[in-house]
Amino acid sequence: MKKLIKAANLVDIAEKIDQGKRLSLEDGLRLYKAPLLAVGYLANLMRERLHGRKTYYVYNQHINYSNECLNLCKFCAFGKPKGHPEGFTLTLEEIEQKIKARLKEPIKEIHIVGSVHPDLPFDYYVELIRRVKTLRPEAVIKAYTATEISHFADISGKTIEAVLKILKDAGLEVLPGGGAEIFAPRVRQEVCPRKLTAEKWLAIAKTAHRLGIKSNCTMLYGHIETYEERLQHLIALREAQDETRGFLCFIPLSFHPKNTKLSYLPGPTGVEDLKTMALSRLMLDNIPHIKAYWIMLTPKLAQVALNFGADDIDGTILEEKITHMAKAESPQCLTRTELEALIKEAGYEPVERDTFFREI
Ligand code: SF4
Repeated sequence: MKKLIKAANLVDIAEKIDQGKRLSLEDGLRLYKAPLLAVGYLANLMRERLHGRKTYYVYNQHINYSNECLNLCKFCAFGKPKGHPEGFTLTLEEIEQKIKARLKEPIKEIHIVGSVHPDLPFDYYVELIRRVKTLRPEAVIKAYTATEISHFADISGKTIEAVLKILKDAGLEVLPGGGAEIFAPRVRQEVCPRKLTAEKWLAIAKTAHRLGIKSNCTMLYGHIETYEERLQHLIALREAQDETRGFLCFIPLSFHPKNTKLSYLPGPTGVEDLKTMALSRLMLDNIPHIKAYWIMLTPKLAQVALNFGADDIDGTILEEKITHMAKAESPQCLTRTELEALIKEAGYEPVERDTFFREI
């Protein structure tokens, strides 16, 4: 491997990583252009220093309460205008039924996200959390992206802080981290002009952290952004983490063009996916966990990504709509046995966790 690092002209970056020094944007650009296996090797060094051979997964359930959306971002196949034949909004009773149907399973996390809904009142979102927490008191409730939180503040006339406090009192414990996309204003203006700004996304994450609500963070890559814009996004997350230490996990989200307004784009290749995974691990030296989200990557590539910096493979899921409306080729659910087998075959030790990465 030393020969590979030398041949790739990455000795100075390897030394920085070895000494625990922070990588710069220029280092990131060089890594993006370097051979895949050399970048993967360096990311794996950092991954193993932090987590050894452990790979985490969670027994979880996804609830998508609605896809009727005011924003209609160009990269999204999930959001539909109100009245669209594929649009849906679940009643609170329907959501309760979905939770009750799986009460016998040892679910440790309920992941709840939806859309920027045209007319649901703020009370619906608060009551949703309260009812799920009542039915599933032992599970961690991870709900609502910063996009949704910003919308709740708009419709309720409350501050972001007040909205978060009310949701926390109802049972919300973690924010899932979506809505970050790519922070660069040029990209946001083009692909999601109605979405909250990068500054607001970061302010909501930091406010949540200060209130004791942890969160994940994400980056949707592989559409119109440049490598530099990706790296700037990662550096902005790293700087926010320096301030609050509230991010649990980073999830690089691989763009799926099918059924979106950007369907003419090819989407990222496998090499792109693995390099971005590795770059995420190397740049985000202060965020503990990097997730290979198998729903977006497919289980096969997520398994390989465990050797490219990822230490988490998400969870069992069962019912996922957001990526599957973009015709994701992954299944809707993996059993605990299937997840553990994927991890073991990649040479790692499966560790079941909760949302806070506490081992079970
Ligand atoms: S990404 Fe979110 S805000 Fe944008 S259209 Fe999809 S559901 Fe709506």
